[in-house]
Order: sequence, then structure tokens, then C-alpha cells
Amino acid sequence: MDTLPFDKPGRFWRGNLHTHSTRSDGIYCAEEVCRRYREAGYDFLAITDHFTARYDWPITDTRPYRGDGFTTLIAAELHAPQTQIGERWHIKAVGLPLDFAPATEGETGPEVAARAHAAGAFVGIVHPSWYGLTAADADALPFAHAVEIYNHGSAVEVDRGNDWPYADALLNRGRRICGYASDDAHHLDHDWLGGWVYVHAGSLEPDALLDSLKAGRYYSSQGPRLHHVAMAGDEVTVRCSPARTLSLQGRGARSVFQRGDGLRAATLPLKRFRGGWFRVTVTDMNGAKAWSNPVWLDD
Ligand SMILES: [Zn+2]
Ligand SMILES: [Zn+2]
Repeated sequence: MDTLPFDKPGRFWRGNLHTHSTRSDGIYCAEEVCRRYREAGYDFLAITDHFTARYDWPITDTRPYRGDGFTTLIAAELHAPQTQIGERWHIKAVGLPLDFAPATEGETGPEVAARAHAAGAFVGIVHPSWYGLTAADADALPFAHAVEIYNHGSAVEVDRGNDWPYADALLNRGRRICGYASDDAHHLDHDWLGGWVYVHAGSLEPDALLDSLKAGRYYSSQGPRLHHVAMAGDEVTVRCSPARTLSLQGRGARSVFQRGDGLRAATLPLKRFRGGWFRVTVTDMNGAKAWSNPVWLDD
């Protein structure tokens, strides 16, 4: 895991990892979805249609909509039986081959996800609170790279969009896992432009973005920017867009914060996070947030 890329060569690229098109239950065709995200200032997009027999197993080919300053990742939302409480799994796979094989009779969610992982995909645990995923369910996906810590559609439609508590519980049990924000856009009205990732990479090539996603070289946002996060001794310095609160969260009750009016930087103590992990949250005047990935402090 390489979750502090701020000092490295390269730059951050803005993208959404969870979007639907008319290949499943989205309102707009893939070309129109790409056009709208591109016009909204995104650098890349993953269209993740529901990979089920009902929609004839779509791996939506978005390569024709790539162009100067905009690219796409080939992806899908995978479904198969069955979670601990009997729901059909929802699993994100970004970076799939276009000929990824349909699920076979009897294949479980973790099995189809393992196939996606073996094919080179970034695997995400999607909107866990929205459908009652348990910690044991996360254990069934030991190869997953990240939890979808913010799902804008779930937040706006049914107030179940925030999954840092779910991810923190896994982190507290020693799991090394990252977190990403996304839209889960179907309509592109109330359910888009609400949560995204800034992925750090040397170029906007799909393979470079995918490598960075798998390594944790990104952070999530609803608007605020993390300009720099750097550790020195027993402190971390954060520089960001104007913030009301800058906070660190860690194992259990471990946390520190600084409040201010238009705070652009803060240096915070790391001592209480030693032997564990911390992550950074920036909250702006309107309550919009940016979230770093966890950083592990090995003694
Ligand atoms: Zn879903
Ligand atoms: Zn979805």
C-alpha cells in the first residue's frame, strides 16, 4: 500500500468509479454518460453496468469515448448469490477484460469477484450499508482493495451513503483496506457529481490509473482538495483547500482535530496513532469533505 503519493512525480486525475448506462438500468447511453462527465470536468470514468443475465452480461465498451484529456476504465458491477443476510452481492470490478466471462450456475459473489481480481481488476466492496453487508461478508472478499466509503446515490436517495464506519471497523480488526467515494449515477440529475476520487498517476493512461487504484494512490472528495499530506517525526502536516475542520481518525477512539475559519494547513500530532493507522478528513464551510486513504504506522 502506497497511500501518501503527494511527494511523488505525477499529478491527481479526477474520476468516478461507479456509473450506470442503458446497458443496464441507467437512463443515458454510455456515450452520453461519458460526454456529460467529461463536460463536468472529470478526467476519467468507469461505467459499471450490472453484470447479470437480465442485461445480457454487459462489460460496456467505452473505448470509443476516450479522447484528448479524458479516458475510461472498463468495468462492471458484479452480482451473484449471496451475502450473509441473503442478499445478492454487489461488487465493483474496475479494469476488466472486455471478454470477462458471465457468472456460471452456482458461482457465488466471492467466486466471481476472485475471477475479476485474478483478471487484474481493482475490486471494491460496494455500498455496504445500503444492503446490510456484514463484517463477515468483507472477510469473504480478502482480496478486495477498497470499501466504497461514500455512495452519492445511496446518500441522496435513502440516507445510507456513508461507509467510513464500516471501513473503520475492518481497519480496527487489522485489515489493510482503502476507501473510495463514488456517485453510483443512474439518472445524472440528483445522483451525480457528489463523490469522486483523485487518483495520482504519471499519466492518464488506463493502466497507470488502475495501478494507482490498486496501490491506494488516491483520495476521495465531495469538493475539498488535499494538496499535501506529509509525515515528519511524530507529526503530519496537511495542506488543503479552505476548511472548517481538519481531523485525523484512527483505531477505536483515537482522533485529533483542528478547527478554524478557512483553514488551509495544519500540523497534527501522530503519537496516539503509533502502532496502528490514521486517515485525514477535511471538512469545508458547507460540510463537504475530502478523505485520505488510511496510512499505516508500523513500529
Ligand atoms: Zn449496487
Ligand atoms: Zn451501482
